[in-house]
Amino acid sequence: MLGERLRVKFGYVKSFMRLSRGKDRVNEASRDFVYGTFSEFYSDPSTVIPSPASLGQRELGFLLFKERIMLRHQIFARINDLKLFLGERVPSDVYRSCAYYENPAAEMDKKGWLGADLVFDIDADHIPTSCDKLHDEWTCAKCGFSGKGITPEACPACEGQKFDAKTWPCEVCLESAKEETIKLIDMLSVDFGFSDSEVSVFFSGHRGYHVHVENEAVKTLDTMARKEIVDYITGLGLSVLGGDEAKGRSAKRRRARSFSLHDFGWNRRLKLGLRNFILNATKEDLIDAGVKSNSAVILRNRELILKRCIEEGRWSSVKGVSVGTWRKLAEYVKDLESSKIDTVVTTDTHRLIRMNGTLHGKTGFRKVEFPATHLADFNPFEEAVAFKEGAVKVSVSDAPKFRLGGSVLGPYKRQTVEVPTAAAVLLICRGRAEVAN
Ligand SMILES: [Zn+2]
Ligand SMILES: [Zn+2]
Repeated sequence: MLGERLRVKFGYVKSFMRLSRGKDRVNEASRDFVYGTFSEFYSDPSTVIPSPASLGQRELGFLLFKERIMLRHQIFARINDLKLFLGERVPSDVYRSCAYYENPAAEMDKKGWLGADLVFDIDADHIPTSCDKLHDEWTCAKCGFSGKGITPEACPACEGQKFDAKTWPCEVCLESAKEETIKLIDMLSVDFGFSDSEVSVFFSGHRGYHVHVENEAVKTLDTMARKEIVDYITGLGLSVLGGDEAKGRSAKRRRARSFSLHDFGWNRRLKLGLRNFILNATKEDLIDAGVKSNSAVILRNRELILKRCIEEGRWSSVKGVSVGTWRKLAEYVKDLESSKIDTVVTTDTHRLIRMNGTLHGKTGFRKVEFPATHLADFNPFEEAVAFKEGAVKVSVSDAPKFRLGGSVLGPYKRQTVEVPTAAAVLLICRGRAEVAN
């Protein structure tokens, strides 16, 4: 027996249990089929699992298909030992710690924490999109109340916090996750000064992207320091255009004069963002930004506003565009320019994160690394596809239209179809299909 079996205590374990509970969502034949594809993938000599830095100081964790348990506190000195293990045990999900430990196999409080990479997770689950109501549904596990779109924090009917969520790794949602990732990487490189070689970018294998920073200076940052970084990235607590602490007319005038957006950090981001926004805004955008009554003036005087207010910093020099208007616009632009990261992941210095090169149990996609310069062109539906051969007949309950490995598939509604292996794995893992008899 390799290590101790720990109690299942993570959210993702819950959703896997649902998948593997046989009767309700996925039948045994389907589960065996997915297991078979994962097994083949990990046993294939051509499958390369890249080793993270200092593998021997990391804790590894596995969610096992058959035993349906989370195996934690595992250690591997060499990546080849891990590869052998994966071929033998075939986990549905493979995790490794962001942290480095003296004794990674010890219990949590005896591990001897040496430091941790700075890790960011950007997941479509946290980003509202125009399509999430079309393909995402949730049902309260306690009372059965259900809805469409992003799963709420608490059930509106009973305030329960456990949900059965049915989501889909959709192209549009993944594009919005990508945009948030692009903003994050820009901040890490321009504002924080991390070099390209210190910042690694990954597709998570499901609905988003991971960004890791490996650097001696960040390694020993504690949770509080990481929270400061999170606040910067999300723009939390940023006082926009001088803030509004001071009250009264003279203070107001003083503030209007003292507005000046210099060319570094958030100041630069607000300046560029405001310029961009004013340049391209439609009436609807201005209404969205909460400046409906000034919209006509702004649309009429774009050029003048750009020059006098934004370039020269004379914020109250255009009639009808007050300091208050600028503050509203800046708040709105701050929201556009910040990056919607999952804040909990970054502040957790003991976090287990999916291992690069391994399969995601909810999709069959691979977590893959690629250069940050490739992010804009990265296509997960091509580049994260792990199973490239074969076709399987499945009975699909329902699935939206999707592209995968060069084919366009669906939409499907209660029908039996033959699809490429990768699509069959995806549909089964998402609880949308079964292997047809
Ligand atoms: Zn409920
Ligand atoms: Zn979507």
